[in-house]
Amino acid sequence: MYAPPIHRLITELGKLPGVGARTAQRLALHILRASPQDAAALAASIQEVKERIGLCEICFNFAEGPRCRVCSDERRDAGLICVVEEAGDVIPIERTHEFRGRYHVLGGALSPIDGVDPADLKIAELYRRVADHAEPIREVVLATNSTTTGEATALHIADTLRERAPDVVVTR
Ligand code: ZN
Repeated sequence: MYAPPIHRLITELGKLPGVGARTAQRLALHILRASPQDAAALAASIQEVKERIGLCEICFNFAEGPRCRVCSDERRDAGLICVVEEAGDVIPIERTHEFRGRYHVLGGALSPIDGVDPADLKIAELYRRVADHAEPIREVVLATNSTTTGEATALHIADTLRERAPDVVVTR
């Protein structure tokens, strides 16, 4: 029905989360009607994030360069870590302007049914951070989601931290 380039665009857009076949078609037609400048800006911004954005070497949040903005900010309390599942979970916490500590992004939640175990997440990296005396950690706030997997992840981390780092305060 469509020329091959349009069909390819619809196929690619349809791979995005929450975008069904009809939405993919609607978006593709919108891009076709857009100005060449707007379409080029969209394509360039996709390419740019893939080229310039990686994971922070400390907290695994998205970062342009080796460290994210929070980890590069000397004013943020390095002794307080908020553990979240995904990088997107940092945004609503930052919006409150109430949290002055740093983050640790796990990259998901424990789910034995889906085959996600501790080795698939940045959990060992969290324990390493807590054990690293160059940067003493006083408190770890477990802000994983209130789903079954999020709760299981928080429990797992809380148990391990209590054993390995009894001086660190763990809160949910
Ligand atoms: Zn960071």
